[in-house]
Formats: sequence, C-alpha cells, structure tokens
Amino acid sequence: AKRAGRNAYAVFSPSMSRSVLEEAQQRVDMELGLEQEQFVLLYQPVVDLATQRTTAVEALVRWQHPEDGLLSPYQFIATAEANGLIVPLGRWVLREACAQLARWRRETPAAAGLKVNVNLSARQFQYAGLVADVAAAIGDAGIPAGSLTLEITESMLMEDITGAIETLRALRALGVRLAIDDFGTGYSSLNYLKQLPVDIIKIDRTFVEQVDTDADDVALVDAVVALGQALRLQTVAEGIETEGQWMMLRQIGCDQGQGYLFGRPGDAASVPGLLIREPAPAEL
Ligand code: C2E
Ligand code: CA
Ligand code: CA
Ligand code: CA
Repeated sequence: AKRAGRNAYAVFSPSMSRSVLEEAQQRVDMELGLEQEQFVLLYQPVVDLATQRTTAVEALVRWQHPEDGLLSPYQFIATAEANGLIVPLGRWVLREACAQLARWRRETPAAAGLKVNVNLSARQFQYAGLVADVAAAIGDAGIPAGSLTLEITESMLMEDITGAIETLRALRALGVRLAIDDFGTGYSSLNYLKQLPVDIIKIDRTFVEQVDTDADDVALVDAVVALGQALRLQTVAEGIETEGQWMMLRQIGCDQGQGYLFGRPGDAASVPGLLIREPAPAEL
C-alpha cells in the first residue's frame, strides 16, 4: 500500500521514487510514533576496565514500529536527521534518559554514582535550543548535571569548529560531561582536540576489534590513550567482545570499556542488576 503512488512520480527513476515515498511515509510514521511513545531506550554498561564496575550506561534508542517490529537506529536516525524530526526525537531521548537515571537513583542505592550517556546527532547539536533543552532535562529530572554525559562525534565538531566550541562551552557550563564518540574515524587534528572542552574520548570499535592480534592496532590505541592522558581526558574503548581485547586494553592503560563482553544493550530493568553484580574471577 505504501508504494501505490509510485507511478505518479514518473520523472523519478523507480528506485528513487520508492525512496522518496518511503521517506515521506517514514516521516508520517515517525511523528505518530513520537506521539504514541513507540520509541524505547536500551542501556549498555560502561565499565571501569580495572575493576569491571559499571560506572555509566549509554542510552541507545530503538523504535518499536507497529508493523515493522523493533527498528535499530541505523534504520531511522538518518531519516530523522534529514526530515528534522531528530530534534524532537533527540529531546525525548534526553528527557527519558535523565528521568530514568532519576528513577534508578531513587530505587537503587547502588545507582547513587551512576552516570548516563546520551548520543547527540549533528542537527541536534546545531539546534539553537539544545542548551536550554539539556538544562530543562536535568532540572526536570532532578539529577546532578555531572551525571549526564553527552556524546558527540568528531565530524559534528569539525564542520564549524568555532561554533562547536561555543556550544560545548555552554553545555559544560551547565556541568554536564562531554565525550567524543567514535574517536579515530573522523577528521580531527591534534590542534583541534587540544582546544575542545571535552572530558572523554571514546575509541571506536574498529580499533578495538583486532587490538589483541594486530600490532598496528595496539600501537594506535596506545597512542590514543597516551594522547588522552596528556590532555587529561578519560579514555573509553568501544566494542570489547573478548577477554583478550579487555586484557590488552587494560595493559595499555585505557580507563573504561564497553562491549558485549560486559553487557549488551538491555532494558531499564536490567540496569540495577549490573550495579550489584559480583566481580568476575579475572579481577580477583
Ligand atoms: P554508537 O554511539 O557508536 O553506539 C554503539 C553501538 O555499538 C550500539 O549500536 C551498540 O549496540 C553497539 N555495540 C556495543 N557493544 C558492541 C560490541 O561489543 N560489538 C558490536 N559489534 N557492537 C557493539 P546501536 O544501538 O545499534 O546504535 C548504533 C548507532 O546509532 C550508535 O552508535 C549511535 O551513533 C546511534 N544512536 C543510537 N541511539 C541514538 C540516539 O538516541 N540518538 C542519536 N542521535 N543516535 C543514536
Ligand atoms: Ca555513542
Ligand atoms: Ca561510538
Ligand atoms: Ca560507532
């Protein structure tokens, strides 16, 4: 039924008209989805690599679509960026993650020091109301500003470095922490990194994948961790799936890690259990 009007767009190639129609349809679906609260957040633990304690959880959005099932962000974030709905969707993610952190803090003593990480998209980062949205999300939830970390990618910063630094400063003035996500995959010069008012570098999974087998990757991750230490930034390795990767990253001196080895993204109810779990034999 979605493609019934294809022939009405005779000037487009069939594949193009299909994508135009599908995107238009997805916009309508997405507006309805926001209204009907079809979006959900899953949370993945970020652990201290030395103690394996969960220090934070990253909020990862999913769309429980009424016809298409549970959709991954790769299936709708780009469309939301293109059609502008990323701003209200991103605002919902921010507010929900803060409200959920407040719930965990109320219900679980072990959650007292827990932090929550929220991903920002490029358009959301450029949106003039972002700082006010963040302030309202923290204030309405009643959580300490320092318990919220915002994740931003390098490419978002490099487009307009002066404007980006201004936004980062304003966010930091609220007391929130800032992380550079997918570090190493974008273009960023060391000179820029030095100027950026950020707290954390998240080393992209592509560098972690072979860190236990490839000497070049060891050298690269080692260099990034040293850079982080020199700039007094925390380092977090993404996508840790094996004990071997974990041990190597620990040896290199990376502070924290995230990945299937420590926990897959799970629903909000799964988080309190992460906070009281017994240390693994490896750390004893
Ligand atoms: P990301 O921010 O780099 O998030 C990490 C992604 O890696 C997540 O995919 C996570 O499930 C996956 N992952 C975690 N550990 C492992 C591992 O050990 N191995 C492998 N292979 N993958 C692992 P997910 O949840 O599908 O999210 C994909 C991307 O979508 C995120 O990448 C982020 O860029 C974006 N995204 C997710 N939620 C949001 C959101 O609320 N807002 C915005 N703007 N973007 C979001
Ligand atoms: Ca992220
Ligand atoms: Ca990432
Ligand atoms: Ca990534």
